[in-house]
Amino acid sequence: MAEIVYGNATIEPGGMELDDESYQDECPECGSETAIWRHWQSAAGGSINPYYSCKCKACGHYETDWANPWEM
Ligand SMILES: [Zn+2]
Repeated sequence: MAEIVYGNATIEPGGMELDDESYQDECPECGSETAIWRHWQSAAGGSINPYYSCKCKACGHYETDWANPWEM
């Protein structure tokens, strides 16, 4: 389930380039170095909102502040 993407930018219809990056770093739960962190931006209602998620393969820990009502 390794999923690492570098420099994967999304071009919005308006021409805005949004950040979207994933990298491997320490898990806040178990300290494993194999957790996948992702930081990205989403344009909604004319504003750019930053989000993050963390997924750990070692202990199964997952956390995110992503709560887009239009996507759920
Ligand atoms: Zn972990």
